[in-house]
Amino acid sequence: MVSAFETVFERLGVRKVEDLFFKIHPDYVQGVSEVRMENVKCPRCERNTKQAWVYCYNGDWLQENVWPICHDCEKLAHAKDVGIQLIQKRQDVVDGDWYYIDADDKAGFKNFEDVTPEATAAKEKATAYVKELLEGKPKNLRLSGTPGTGKTHLSKAIARTLKHQGQKVAFIESKKLFNKLKSMFGNQVAQERFEKQFSEFDIVIIDDVGVETRKADELSWSSGEWVSLIDLRKGKSTVYTTNFDKESLKKVIGARSVSRMSENAEVIEIFTPDHDYRDELFY
Ligand SMILES: [Zn+2]
Repeated sequence: MVSAFETVFERLGVRKVEDLFFKIHPDYVQGVSEVRMENVKCPRCERNTKQAWVYCYNGDWLQENVWPICHDCEKLAHAKDVGIQLIQKRQDVVDGDWYYIDADDKAGFKNFEDVTPEATAAKEKATAYVKELLEGKPKNLRLSGTPGTGKTHLSKAIARTLKHQGQKVAFIESKKLFNKLKSMFGNQVAQERFEKQFSEFDIVIIDDVGVETRKADELSWSSGEWVSLIDLRKGKSTVYTTNFDKESLKKVIGARSVSRMSENAEVIEIFTPDHDYRDELFY
């Protein structure tokens, strides 16, 4: 095997170790009586695989590093870097498909405006929920409430906190999720990849459940899809935010879906008192 050092030799047009050494240290021509290349101990793998100059300077044998670590360790470090980059790249691709929170979106628990007692209670429940998940107890969460009460903000706070803790997090609007499903009709490979990814996240947050269904003829289709989606998340944590209360939600996504969604689930409801969403289902 040609060592990296030998190729440096060739490039510089020197054939002997001494020539290169004196090229770098012209002032050593006087004092150095002998110079050779030796394999010395590599500080990383502790084998005698690292090249160094060993030279005799005015009667003392000295050593000068050619490389900080041996060639094998250099290769290994490079492979590791490439591996880490690949993992990051793959993660970026998955995030691009599943994590729809902009990097500059700073919605968190700290900047959540809990101006009403309901909002304060909701925030407390949400932080307790995050703690449970971090203790390794998967659980669902239905976050229902009137628009503008901070549901999405809270769900983003949950997503960002858990992602920061190293969990695999998806955050996607229900509408986008269903557009994804529609775009995969007849494409089994895409469907399988979707199911694998969807089921593997530690937590999936589906924002604005119910808005995916605005046409009456889509109701039955989406309610069936909801049952399958929820089943894919068995044993994992899923957060559903919605403008609908439980009874209204049954009409939008089906009673069976709501019942499955409610298994092992925490519920946070932030409704302003005079609001009834049932009348706004279709418009
Ligand atoms: Zn080494």
